[in-house]
Amino acid sequence: MLFRSVDAVAYFNEAWTPYHAVLATCRRLIDAGYEEISERDAWTLKPGGKYFFTRNMSAVCAFAVGGAYVPGAGFVCVGAHTDSPCPKLKPNTKSTAERFLQVRTQNYGGGLWYTWFDRDLGVAGRVVVKKKDGTVTHELLKINRPVMRIPSLAIHLNREMNNGFAVNFQQHMAPIIADATESALGAGSVPKDEPDPKKLKESSDKDSTRHHPVLLELIADELRCDVGDVADFDLQLCDVQPSTIGGARNEYIFSGRLDNLASCYASLAALVKSTGDKSSLSEETGVRMLVHYDHEEVGSDSAQGAGSSMTEDAMRRVSMALGGDAIEGGAERSRRSSFIVSADMAHAVHPNYADKHEPGHKPRFGDGVVIKHNANQRYATDAVTAWLFRELGERAGVPVQEFVVRSDLGCGSTIGPILSTRTGIRTVDVGAPQLSMHSVREMSSCADMKHAVEHFAAVYEGFTKLDKTLMVDGAIGNLCRPCD
Ligand code: ZN
Repeated sequence: MLFRSVDAVAYFNEAWTPYHAVLATCRRLIDAGYEEISERDAWTLKPGGKYFFTRNMSAVCAFAVGGAYVPGAGFVCVGAHTDSPCPKLKPNTKSTAERFLQVRTQNYGGGLWYTWFDRDLGVAGRVVVKKKDGTVTHELLKINRPVMRIPSLAIHLNREMNNGFAVNFQQHMAPIIADATESALGAGSVPKDEPDPKKLKESSDKDSTRHHPVLLELIADELRCDVGDVADFDLQLCDVQPSTIGGARNEYIFSGRLDNLASCYASLAALVKSTGDKSSLSEETGVRMLVHYDHEEVGSDSAQGAGSSMTEDAMRRVSMALGGDAIEGGAERSRRSSFIVSADMAHAVHPNYADKHEPGHKPRFGDGVVIKHNANQRYATDAVTAWLFRELGERAGVPVQEFVVRSDLGCGSTIGPILSTRTGIRTVDVGAPQLSMHSVREMSSCADMKHAVEHFAAVYEGFTKLDKTLMVDGAIGNLCRPCD
């Protein structure tokens, strides 16, 4: 049990941003014998082959073609998302107040922002670098030391703070990066034209540069380039405290971004496991696929989000490259034979707030992956897809639990309804249980990390065969015969 969680924690510690999550995933795919391909090139695929491609470096799609692939056969796909709520740097970050150099940030997604106060913060993301010879590259940046901090206000200055910590993002979420006086006095990090700190104004709106030199120098030092080479960036704040196993019996995982890196890791480990040398891939007639999307936390509408053409493009091209164009309706028939597991974390019941859960549906740590239901289609699960997922887990000996939100509370949503709408593919929404969702530091269970990997592997290995026994797709006549 612990092996999976230790490996998962190593993955979380690599995956500070969607870019780093994709890099961590690609590294493991390459180690497992997957070959990188590009959406810009022609694809030559073969049965038994294992491939992956990335989009924007923040989304990745990997797939393994069954050794016994039949043109028009379906995909069994697990989808997850690489992004998590965080403060991102604004285009012009420079801000100065009360002799502190600060960095302007904007909210990405719906975070529990009060949890970001008093954390030791690093910076990470992607930087566009323009070299002297005119070449432009993008480099991944990770400043893994506490270079910034958002201090909380002392209780003495607001006695009401414990009655509800209201965060005004614009007003309260600019981290301190350096002392203006210290910086201006030198330490070799600030140019001579930095204004006299005594004359610094409350706002730096009229300053000519977009960023404090100290920030640009941190970036340039880390990337080993000149400050002038930094053309642009997409950076976010990150908690530098490493993810870890915790609890008296080492039963928990404490980490940022468990939503949804835990699902990214579980789907990756399951795909690698189910397509390795000793797996059943050689007998598989379909395609085993994983897609990790960006931008779920802000609605999935982007070129690399679940609302994009990415899934459909990939599936069509795989089908066509493997002879699907030789049969009538190859790509469409393939999609109707497919199954998507939309994997996103679920809310475990909280011991101090147990009344927030529907009494008959309280997901618990250690009781397995949660199947999420919602009659109003906030989740894509239906009776057939829930049964498929549950049955495959039970056959593999892993537990499973069910969730529906209280009828007097609103329900979250996932990539599930978006994917099923776009592709017409049968979809189930599931996820391992966790606490503190969207906090800077979340909590889940080691047992469920193992359950998730085993359950997703069971889906990859068993779906195609189980689906052939189903009698529920298509026209009325199909109700009384298998749907293959
Ligand atoms: Zn999520």
